[in-house]
Amino acid sequence: MPRLGALFLLVAIFSAAVCAIVYQLLIGSVSSYFLGNSVEQFSLTIGFFLAAMGLGSWLSRFVADDLLLTRLAQLEIWLGLLGGISVGVLYVLYGYTDHFRVGMLALSTAIGALIGLEVPLITRLLRGHGTLRTALSNVLSLDYLGALLASLLFPYILLPFLGSLHTALVAGLVNAVLGLGVVLAFKGVLEQRTFRWLGAQALVVIAVLGALAWQGEGLRARWESDLYEDRIVHSEQSAYQQIVLTRRDEHLRLYLNGHLQFASIDEHRYHEALVHPAMALALSRERVLIIGGGDGLTAREVLKYAEVQHVDLVDLDPAVTRLAQRNIHLTRLNDNALNRRQVRVINEDGFVFLQREHVPYGAILIDLPDPREESLAKLYSVEAYRLCRKLLSPQGVLATQASSPYHVREAYWSIAAALEEAGFAVHSYHLHVPSFGEWGFHLAGPDGLDPTAASFAVPTRYIDRQVWSALAVFDGDMARLPVQANRLDRPVLARYYRQSTSTQF
Ligand code: SAM
Repeated sequence: MPRLGALFLLVAIFSAAVCAIVYQLLIGSVSSYFLGNSVEQFSLTIGFFLAAMGLGSWLSRFVADDLLLTRLAQLEIWLGLLGGISVGVLYVLYGYTDHFRVGMLALSTAIGALIGLEVPLITRLLRGHGTLRTALSNVLSLDYLGALLASLLFPYILLPFLGSLHTALVAGLVNAVLGLGVVLAFKGVLEQRTFRWLGAQALVVIAVLGALAWQGEGLRARWESDLYEDRIVHSEQSAYQQIVLTRRDEHLRLYLNGHLQFASIDEHRYHEALVHPAMALALSRERVLIIGGGDGLTAREVLKYAEVQHVDLVDLDPAVTRLAQRNIHLTRLNDNALNRRQVRVINEDGFVFLQREHVPYGAILIDLPDPREESLAKLYSVEAYRLCRKLLSPQGVLATQASSPYHVREAYWSIAAALEEAGFAVHSYHLHVPSFGEWGFHLAGPDGLDPTAASFAVPTRYIDRQVWSALAVFDGDMARLPVQANRLDRPVLARYYRQSTSTQF
């Protein structure tokens, strides 16, 4: 083993480790984007990857010593191809077949098995250069270090700046170039025929991945547009979510991770119902807190009140609030709300903000995506509502969207139970929002509530006194159920939500 060759193998194991973690994170996050329930997707991806890596390590015993270099080059090239196209394959599986789950698990297994071969093959090769003890310690330490680098690069640089498709292609190119590197670094050791054959394979894979990277944006846009009904006018992968804005004629729709957040045709029904009952009942409207609501539509309704002097809008994702501040279609729809002088946009997790803040608000409006994930469900918990309660001024009012009392009945009533356990008096109501279906909210007051006292003093299209009085009737299909409150240490909500959506939607 030439000294330079040994050094190259150590660089190779480090880079391969980075790519290996990147593939796992990619498959986990793209699957979460399509199927939701990120805990399940990441558990399955990591489990199948690790088991397949075990399989790969076991299979390595069948590689004869004289074929170690050939097999290593070959596996890097194949891994490059498979990993490189992995995200594209997932898009196609989701968009055009009914076999996403099986395909995703097969992909994880195949990539994991190839990755599992890397460490044993490289360790055996390096053993020729020193003792087994040093070979193992070098290989494993670089392998674990590479994993750390990948897990730092992925959320902060790769996903936000390259997007999932190009991240996969770049990782694939790294593996294929490593394959080519093995062939070139050990040219003298390999047979001429093997050298040419492996070199040609590596070059073809590099060319294919390069071409895909070149054309990738167009392809991704085509696959993505097949997933949405209307024309996509903005698509962006932020560090937190996939953001898609679509438009047909004058109608806009915003999707986060494939889930509809609003349709301009009927969003006024949702936003008026969220905002105006709370604003009508709040004793003071000078300071308002909005948690979520990065599209600016809740803020638009709040700013209809002349008394409002200060609105804090806490949305996790700067990419959403930037879009709502800059996209001409959105600023028209939200009446430029997020650029108005009264509004302070804070890009932070709502729970962290609630823990830190002390100055009270007259009204708190919670406009978050549905609690389909534990990370979102924590903001619909007893603990989050207790923090809100501390932040409400005397006779302040909280209103939260609470998903559908019809489609996710347990989840809807679990949110009411959490508010009550946090010490609020709760008034529940629902209405029909055609794009969403039957939709529910809860109004909550720390010092009791008299919903009949609400009068609507600003211009509205949907809500008025008469409509308001009709929203609190729940028929037998939506009536309250005896469900548990969601707590941080007993997170039942996302499970209630997913159970209902898996049987009903
Ligand atoms: N009306 C919508 C619905 O029915 O689902 C909610 C719309 S609004 C655009 C939801 C916002 O909540 C998004 O902009 C998202 O970035 C934000 N968000 C998600 N998780 C959050 C968190 N933990 N803290 C603060 N904002 C969050």
